[in-house]
Amino acid sequence: MNIAIKKMIETSLIDWEGKIVSTLYVSLCNFRCPYCYNCDLILHPKNFKNIPFQEINNYLVERKDFIDGICMSGGEPTLYPDLPSYFKEIKDEGFLIKLDTNGANPKLLEDLLGLGLVDYIAMDIKSSLDFDNYSKAAGIKDKILLERVKDSIKLIMNSKIDYEFRTTVVPLLHTEETIMKIVKYLSGAKKYVLQNFSPLEKTLEPSFQKIIPYSAEEIQELIEKAKRYVSNCYYR
Ligand code: SF4
Repeated sequence: MNIAIKKMIETSLIDWEGKIVSTLYVSLCNFRCPYCYNCDLILHPKNFKNIPFQEINNYLVERKDFIDGICMSGGEPTLYPDLPSYFKEIKDEGFLIKLDTNGANPKLLEDLLGLGLVDYIAMDIKSSLDFDNYSKAAGIKDKILLERVKDSIKLIMNSKIDYEFRTTVVPLLHTEETIMKIVKYLSGAKKYVLQNFSPLEKTLEPSFQKIIPYSAEEIQELIEKAKRYVSNCYYR
């Protein structure tokens, strides 16, 4: 299977609420979010060795008693056409699967949902769903990618599985107005999470490390306003 897993956190208690998972990171991404923390992985994939599927599978199977499943993250996992086969092998061993995605491949998402190969989806909403804002926050130049993001939102909201939408809130990219536009668009969604930007980590656009993040109180205020549209909205 052709999936470049470059990094693995063997045991994570924080990537899927209430579950113990191994978190896997792929290298490719078709977005270039200026605040991306995984910039080394997506800009210099050759600096990281691939971790073979068998090695990961053996690790999971040997720890079946306490590992619930995997979280597939990145990078952008849905850029790999072999993702359904990869997930099938893991599911056949009895593990649960969480997918982190930027929503740019609704076709593959639809396949995964149709085949019952994913149990939880966390989809990033980079900004309000207009091209001006989305292109700045996601570093995209092609309008079709935004249309695909919108299709993915629709698919996920109409699916039967658990999911969350989430936004990393960065002062230069997001104002209260931006967040309100997002939650109006997501109105009625099961869950929306605001994550505060941290300038402590290396960012894809180096100047973003100088940005002072919103305070916890400011994020909490945004959340209280956002709850008018998505009642299950919280700060992570
Ligand atoms: S933060 Fe943006 S650039 Fe980085 S991996 Fe996620 S979608 Fe890709």
